[in-house]
Amino acid sequence: MTRREFVAAGAAGAATVGEAGAQAGRPAPRILAVSAHPADFCSRAGGTLIKHVRAGSKAKVIWLTQGESDESDFLIKQRPGISVAEVRRIREKEAFACAEVIGAEGKMFGFGDGPLLMTPERMEMLAREITDFKPDLILTHWKDELTYPTHWRTSRSVIEAAQMARVSWDIRFFEPNIGTASRVGFVPDHYVDISEVFERKVEALKTLAAQPRLVSDYTACNRWRGIECSRQYAEAFVRWAPKPPVYELLGA
Ligand SMILES: [Zn+2]
Repeated sequence: MTRREFVAAGAAGAATVGEAGAQAGRPAPRILAVSAHPADFCSRAGGTLIKHVRAGSKAKVIWLTQGESDESDFLIKQRPGISVAEVRRIREKEAFACAEVIGAEGKMFGFGDGPLLMTPERMEMLAREITDFKPDLILTHWKDELTYPTHWRTSRSVIEAAQMARVSWDIRFFEPNIGTASRVGFVPDHYVDISEVFERKVEALKTLAAQPRLVSDYTACNRWRGIECSRQYAEAFVRWAPKPPVYELLGA
């Protein structure tokens, strides 16, 4: 393998793992995304999920909150006096519409945000969902996103619940809140080339009408991550890996 091929293989990241597995006759990986708010899973990992679903993966998204407090500013400004219940209803409807475009199953916990609080009972509910779905890969928020308590608490809860569930420990952390990566130490260690599914990702983002900036913000983010790995558009991840990869560096 030349150095360029080595870098490209690393750059393809999770998508390479899934597609190669399917091509080799092994089942495509089951992928679970755990999202703090309705849009997070799509803005950070929607392209990766679309790519895997097209390659035969089963994908599921769990939302811990409906985002009624943390990420509904636009909706509340548009409709002064709107009730919290109505905000929740609209955000949940958008979340499921988004998952449908991606081809993922959805499960809304609706624990409430601003910030999210996780009780032992809620931890058990999350662990039970993970146990039932039996994911090969789990995608969730960056574990050190201390600047955003609901995201950070989601990440920590997923790490703990995955261990309670005794299933996959292969967790891939996606981007922190846009614009904060350098402040919270998010340095990607692999990328997924989403160029061929980017238009579909944009379609999915457009279902999240309560957050109209997502399309322009994540077009910029995915283009920037694409530049980092020499692709048109990419999504970036950090891997929480109990089994570190082994490469034959000599002769690479
Ligand atoms: Zn969020």
